[in-house]
Formats: sequence, structure tokens, C-alpha cells
Amino acid sequence: MSRFYITTPIYYVNALPHLGTFYATVVADALARYHRARAKSVFFLTGLDEHGQKIERIAREKGMEPQAYCDGIASKFVETWDRVGISRDRFIRTTDADHTAAVLEMWKRMQANRDAGGKPDIYEAEYDGMYCVGCEEAKTEDDVILENGEKLCPIHRTPVEQIKEKNYFFNLPRYAQKLLRWYAEESDGRPPVQPISRLNEVREFVKGGLRPLSASRAAVKWGIPVPDDPQQTIYVWIDALINYVTGLGGPDAVKRGEGNGAFWPASHHLIGKDLLRFHAVYWPAMLWSAGLEPPKQIFCHGFLNVKGQKISKSIPATRVDPNVIADELGFDPLRYFVLREYALGGDGDFTYEALFQRYESDLGNDLGNLLNRTISMAHKYLGGKVPAVKPGSDPADPYVQLMPVVLGTGSVGEAWEAFSPSRALEETWKMIRAGNIYIDKSAPWKLAKSGDLRALTEVLANTCEVLRRAALFVAPAMPAAAAEILRQLGRGDDEGTWPTLDWVGWPGGILTKPKPIFPRIEADQQAALIAKWVPAEAASAPAATAASTTAASTTAAPDATPADIAIDDFAKIDLRAAKVLAAEVVPKSDKLLKLTLDVGGPEPRTVVSGIAPTYTPETIVGRTVVYLANLAPRKIRGVVSQGMILAAGDADVLGLSALDRDVPPGTRIR
Ligand SMILES: [Zn+2]
Repeated sequence: MSRFYITTPIYYVNALPHLGTFYATVVADALARYHRARAKSVFFLTGLDEHGQKIERIAREKGMEPQAYCDGIASKFVETWDRVGISRDRFIRTTDADHTAAVLEMWKRMQANRDAGGKPDIYEAEYDGMYCVGCEEAKTEDDVILENGEKLCPIHRTPVEQIKEKNYFFNLPRYAQKLLRWYAEESDGRPPVQPISRLNEVREFVKGGLRPLSASRAAVKWGIPVPDDPQQTIYVWIDALINYVTGLGGPDAVKRGEGNGAFWPASHHLIGKDLLRFHAVYWPAMLWSAGLEPPKQIFCHGFLNVKGQKISKSIPATRVDPNVIADELGFDPLRYFVLREYALGGDGDFTYEALFQRYESDLGNDLGNLLNRTISMAHKYLGGKVPAVKPGSDPADPYVQLMPVVLGTGSVGEAWEAFSPSRALEETWKMIRAGNIYIDKSAPWKLAKSGDLRALTEVLANTCEVLRRAALFVAPAMPAAAAEILRQLGRGDDEGTWPTLDWVGWPGGILTKPKPIFPRIEADQQAALIAKWVPAEAASAPAATAASTTAASTTAAPDATPADIAIDDFAKIDLRAAKVLAAEVVPKSDKLLKLTLDVGGPEPRTVVSGIAPTYTPETIVGRTVVYLANLAPRKIRGVVSQGMILAAGDADVLGLSALDRDVPPGTRIR
């Protein structure tokens, strides 16, 4: 049986679960669930990084013992992940006893390894330099910025500390060539670090020359003592990275491939881009030094901003608490939203409005509606019993029209395999939307009227089968909703199995009573919920929350108000609802997307739009936007743009104009 090992970063215990940690953990969980459904042996590890000087200080400031402080944070994480349905095989804490054992084992292995000149990989020397406690990282002159004669960490904007002490060092430069060779290797057609932009970044870093890595600290007590030298504490990053082998039983078990150790090296480390250097440089080198293989893949996800601002404790508006949203919506819609809305390798911008838009259109109007109308009709016309139907081959049969879409869903699995949850869900939704169109076209209510029971049964059976497949396809993203769909279809026993690519027909089921899974939330209710979710400090002082670095782009004064126009002037403007069918980046441009729009006519329209800094092709396809149809065509970068789409903002696009519910493309807007 093939194995799949997936990890999240272990989160530092200086913060409670927030949107950023929720995102990374949900992505890993969805991938774990997908691979389990494909009958792979899966091990999913997540947890907490609890050691280090920063935690020692935070605990002391709170008048607590570090362990008691960590225990409190850990219980909040476990509680949240239980609610979110995070199907981890282990929740690791770096204060766990077996982790200490694994770190010591790893240290000894590294210390025992010597280069050709007899120099051990871990050796003693003097550290004389700078350190940022916020980063828990040594800093060089190139790393720091100078402000009022003081050297600051550019990330934390706090003064770095000068340290002069005896340390143990890891002979990182010894592994530079091996790292460069490793970056050039591929497994399953993919390089070990993804996306490629991150691979290039880390390659340049290594080419620029590596320095020995400080592997211990003298002043820090909250951590794992160096073997035979209790005055020294193992550097928190060395400690933390080793969690990935602790989770599988420690370095010896991994080396021998015993028990869960057999999962190594089938490891996939999902990380934030800020952790790239630790995972793609230090970690493989540490593993080689300890006689182990490097991880199979390191995948960097982007960061979610909130309304354009980086998530930060000090900016209240960016405090999005998944628990609070889930109290009203449940966790599945939020899970779906983050997986569908953002392409995994890129950054994304979170807004409550976009969450509600997806909730209404994708979940309510597409999936929820397909389920509800199917089950309602099955009860109305067939008493809730939908028997198994074998696929026919009469091309006149309306369900045959459905087959290409359903058979095309192999791309769903391919997208999950390629770490593209957004694309996987997009492909799944093609089938769900086709299911709704199929019902519209085959009109079961007409078949019921004319008494054609055979055709009626077939249509409903086919729709049930689309729903059954949809449930299995969305299960990695929305486990609870998938289980509920299968329950309503009378197919609880299907849970966990990935559908075959062949259309074998609906296996039959006795349906339960219809129950909306994504109940409608009216606009005024949405506004009330958003008001409730936005932290009070953010709502009361919106202007003060804009970070100074983004002020230039987001708080620019609006242009002078244009002169009044008559209603006749406005009537000259032809605004229409348009659905984005396809989108691609215009070559050699970082601002422009070429959009293909369904505007209700026989031919789609092409529009070139300067929204690329804010929207990736993945995030815009499928949306309904406001389209100015009668703007004279113009050529932009060699592409004829027929009209334009409306967006908010001046030089920078801040958001797209959209409709609060799906209307047919071409609908006039006045
Ligand atoms: Zn820092």
C-alpha cells in the first residue's frame, strides 16, 4: 500500500488558533482525507512548538511556569481542531517526552558524523553576534535595518540583542553542494520544493554561501539541554524541525523503516513561505547529517491577508476567529471557502463578503439546491425510494448528456494529487452545475405529469448519482456536509471511498426527508453577522487600523466628485451581469488578466482587465461580475478588449463589483 505522510508546521504557542493557522491546518487535513479516500496509508501530523526564549519570556510576564502556559494554549488548539474536524493522527508538542528523546538521538547522530578532515558536524565555538528573540534567529549585518542608530529586526521592528557566548554549531556549509544537487532532483515529476519560485529563492540563498548554524543557546533555559552539557540548550529551530521524525517514532525508527517510521521519506511538509529557509535548507542538511533521507516534498503556501492587511495581533481588523464564524455557519463553509478561494501557492485576501458570496452561490445555489430539489422530487414523485439504475446507451436519453461531465471528473483527483484544492473544487463544481442544468433540461415535473415513470426514475437516479459523487468529491474539504448529503441520499455506507471514473449508475437508496444543508442567509442577516464577527476595537477605529506601509495604496483620497449627469446620460451605459468562464495572465504583464465572459449572447466576450494584482485566474473564474458592454473595443497588449468589468479602487484594484446573488449572464443592470 502506498504511503502518504503530511505535516503542518508546528505552531508557535505565542498565539491562539487564527485564520492563518486554520488555513494551513485545513489544507493539510483535506489532503490527508483525499489520500485516505484513495486507499493510501496516511499519517497526518500537526502540533505545537513550545520551547524557546520568547515563550519563556511570555510565560514569565504572565507570572506562569512555561509548561503551564503551554498547556493552556495547547488545550485551545486541541479544542478548536476537534471542532474543525482536523483528522490528525497525532497532535505533537515539543514538550512531549518522546520528542525530547528523538531530539537527543538526532543530536548524537549529527555529532557523530565527521567530514573528511575529521571535523564533527556539531562542534563548539564562540558566538559573537546579533539575535532577534521574535524570530528566534541569529542576524547578520545584512539582515538588520538601522533606525536612529539602532539595529532593528526588519520583521519585528524591535532592537536585536547582542550576544557573546559559547555555542554549539552545526556545520551547515558542508551540505551546500548536496542541497544544490537535491534541488535539481525530481520525484513524480516535481522538484522537492514548490512552488518553483520558492525553489529558486532557496537555491539563490544557498548559492550565496552558507554559514555554520548556531545549534544551541547558553542563556535560554526553556528547551532541551545539550547532552553532557546542561548549561547549553538546543536551539529552538533544531528542536522544532525534529518533530517531523518524532511523529514517526524518532530517528532510529525512521532509519530502520519500523512501524510508522516506514512513512519516511514519503513526507510532504506544508509550510508558510516565512519558514522556507528552515525547511528547505537546515532540515534536509540535518537529516543527511543524521544519516537519514531528506523529505520528499516541501510545499509553501501563501499568506492570507485580511482586507489587504497582514494578520497581526496588533491590528484588530485582522483578527478573524474561525471559532466565532463557525458558531453561526458551521466549520464546513469556512473550510470550503479557504480551500476554494485561494490558490495554494499564492497569497490571498480574506473578506467576509467574499465568504458569503461563495456560501450563497457555490454552496447554497449550486450544491444545496441540487440536493434539495432532487430529494424533494424523489419524495414527491417516488415516495423517497430511488432504485438502482444501470446506465443506458440511448444517445437521445438526456442523462447521456451528463456523462461527459461526470467522466471528466478525473481532473478532480489530479488536482488533489497536485496540491491544488482550489482547482479540485472548481472541477467538482462543474459536475454539480451540470447536475442542475440536467434537471432543468429533463424537467422531471413534466415527466411526472405525462406519467413516464421509467424516464422520471432514471432522471432522479442519475441526479442522485451526481450528488453521491459530489459528496465523495467534496468530502476532503467538507467532511460533515458530505456525510450529511450521503445520509439524505440513504448512502451512509459510501463514506470515505473515492468514486471510480466509470459511470456505473446510481446504486439505489431510500432517501430521508429533505433538509437544507446551507440555509439561506439574507443580506441584512449577513450584515449583522459581519458586525458581530469584526472585533470591537477594529469596528470602532477603522481608520487607525490601516498599517502605515499600506496607507499609500489603500487610503488614497478619492478624486474630486464628477459633475452631475442626467438619467438620459446614464441610460447610455449598458451594464450587464457577466459570468467569468476563463481567465489567464496576459504574457509579460503583472497587472492584466484576459477574461472570457459569458454575457448571455451566443459568443463569449474577451476583456482585458487590470485586476491581476488582486485576483488570480483561479479566484475569478466562476464569478458573476458587472460588465460594461458598450465601451468601444480597444487593443491592449495585442488583445482586443470588448468592454470592461467594474471594480473598486483607483490605481489599485481593491475589489470587484459583484451581485449578491447569481443572475443569468446578460441580465441588464440599472
Ligand atoms: Zn525578528
